[in-house]
Amino acid sequence: MKDTFTHQGMRKKLVETLSRKGIIDKNVLQAIGKIPRHLFMDSGFVDHAYVDKAFPIAADQTISQPYTVARQTELLEVKKGDKILEIGTGSGYQAAVLLEIGATLYTIERQNELFKKTKLFLPKLGYKPKRLIFGDGYIGLQSEAPFDGIIVTAGAPFVPNPLLAQLKVGGKLVIPVGENVQIMTVFLRKSDTEFEKEEYGEFRFVPLLEDKN
Ligand code: SAH
Repeated sequence: MKDTFTHQGMRKKLVETLSRKGIIDKNVLQAIGKIPRHLFMDSGFVDHAYVDKAFPIAADQTISQPYTVARQTELLEVKKGDKILEIGTGSGYQAAVLLEIGATLYTIERQNELFKKTKLFLPKLGYKPKRLIFGDGYIGLQSEAPFDGIIVTAGAPFVPNPLLAQLKVGGKLVIPVGENVQIMTVFLRKSDTEFEKEEYGEFRFVPLLEDKN
């Protein structure tokens, strides 16, 4: 679990790449500059940790591309102390970015293997989600609702109603919607019954699957 000057230098370059690609949120860039992404990946891929690409992790899943993580986090507009729900814990990298920014984080993963691995790993780096849950993100987390923000890190074929219902008024759901290609979609809750919808271009994610595994 080493973080060397070489890794730090590579991270600095990655941050420059992300700002060139249009990421402007300073907190997001700072978090990515700080978090040792190579430690979230299987050792064989360490050399690739700081290029702006997605990579395979356990259980046929991927660690999202840094640009995607940055863009989704920027769209979520997280403030320190915000109560955030993440669907798709995966490697825990997106979770670390949210925690680094000061979110109070609840995160759900449906693959038991990944859930167990990440639950042990994140605290080793000092990242402590309020709760890490093995469960099905389609139903959200009613017991802890409402949330200031909900972020879905897998491609959703449709927008699950429970996620909209579990937002505070003023809260945001950031969710890639679609089957083969996803449109990054943001829902802002205006009132109990009204939502404003915005779209932010095409992305590609592994699918949001039903039930636990
Ligand atoms: N945020 C992760 C991205 C992992 S890829 C990271 O930074 O590494 C998407 C993750 O969503 C996978 O780990 C996958 O197992 C998980 N997933 C898919 N469907 C899910 C569901 N219904 N509920 C919770 N997690 C789900």
